[in-house]
Amino acid sequence: MTSQHIANGVNMNIHEYQAKALLRSYGIPVSDGRAVMRAEEAKTAAGELDGPLWVVKAQIHAGGRGKGKFKEPEAGEKGGVRLARSVGEAAEFARQMLGRTLVTVQTGPAGKQVNRIYIEDGSDIARELYLAMLIDRATSRISIVCSTEGGMSIEDVAHDTPEKILTFDIDPAAGFSEYHGRRVAFSLGLEGNQVKQCVNIVKTLYKMFTEKDMEMLEINPLVVMTDGNMKLLDAKISFDGNAMYRHPDIAALRDETEEDPKELAASKFDLNYIALDGEIGCMVNGAGLAMATMDIIKLYGAEPANFLDVGGGATKEKVTEAFKIITSDPNVKGILVNIFGGIMRCDIIAEGIIAAVKEVGLKVPLVVRLEGTNVDLGKDIIRKSGLDVIAADDLKDGAQKIVKAVKG
Ligand code: GDP
Ligand code: MG
Repeated sequence: MTSQHIANGVNMNIHEYQAKALLRSYGIPVSDGRAVMRAEEAKTAAGELDGPLWVVKAQIHAGGRGKGKFKEPEAGEKGGVRLARSVGEAAEFARQMLGRTLVTVQTGPAGKQVNRIYIEDGSDIARELYLAMLIDRATSRISIVCSTEGGMSIEDVAHDTPEKILTFDIDPAAGFSEYHGRRVAFSLGLEGNQVKQCVNIVKTLYKMFTEKDMEMLEINPLVVMTDGNMKLLDAKISFDGNAMYRHPDIAALRDETEEDPKELAASKFDLNYIALDGEIGCMVNGAGLAMATMDIIKLYGAEPANFLDVGGGATKEKVTEAFKIITSDPNVKGILVNIFGGIMRCDIIAEGIIAAVKEVGLKVPLVVRLEGTNVDLGKDIIRKSGLDVIAADDLKDGAQKIVKAVKG
């Protein structure tokens, strides 16, 4: 797997333990820890840490693990972040969680299988704070978000007491200055040496954020420990997928088991695909036309099952693959193909659809709207194929026909 396989425009997420290794390499304070993939390794891993407190943490690409619940009773009653008082207990927690399915507010009801566990040296916490950096699309700048109310209820804080969250952005021309770090420190109510530590942390995080082309960095909690020092106890990082060719070291951290299999397959064929919850699968060329197609499906009362831009110079193989990905989604009750052939030729689309249907069959209604280069040839190919295709004249007609075919 190389960076070129990371789909255009899709962010890349990494695990907490990987994020912490990166933070550590920048000199940012994090706890010592060990990642394991097998229960047999857990005891040795925990034994290498000092104790007397161990934190055993499920590694999945989703937050809310602490408050999460496992589907299997064998995993026990506790969530995906557990405090252990001995090496044996830490190993037992790891054994309970590995291979089980953790459901959190961020995983959706299906949950995520836990394939890796991170065992960390436990910290004594005095205060839990919140600190995040993200690319703000509205201002085209990096925003810093912080709050004194860190920990597992930050979503409630944002909802109930938004005034407890401070957000400001950094002018990219002027860059980062100590002042920004002090602003965070004072808003977090830090004192004395903590202010210095906080300024250093924020400054280094900003450097890391820009150097590594991050999209989002969330530290929750950033803690003040009972000894007065600061540490980062949780880290969620996502990177700009388009920039990963510049960071092979980061791209190598990709864990494909965490990704939607449909999006993963799409990325291997360089298809710009994003899975959604609706029932109408869409195959379109051009990102703008793909969005317009999704909008008009909604306008006529249905929901798109995906965003898919097959691109300009798609081959028959690529179109075939795109069609297979759409039909592999069990939620798809109908498919709308909407191609405005410019660089993309309508006959290529037609051949791709026919090849895919031959391979996987067609179990749902299919509406095809072709227009532009080689349109007559494309329509002819579909007609002669004997496929049960509903032809549409324009986008409106196509959307109405597919919604009618699916909803009656
Ligand atoms: P999340 O629920 O997915 O955000 O996972 P976190 O890593 O943030 O852990 C959840 C909670 O576990 C934190 O908010 C802390 O309250 C607690 N926690 C995590 N690490 C430690 C630790 O080293 N010591 C103690 N005492 N609590 C911890
Ligand atoms: Mg957290």
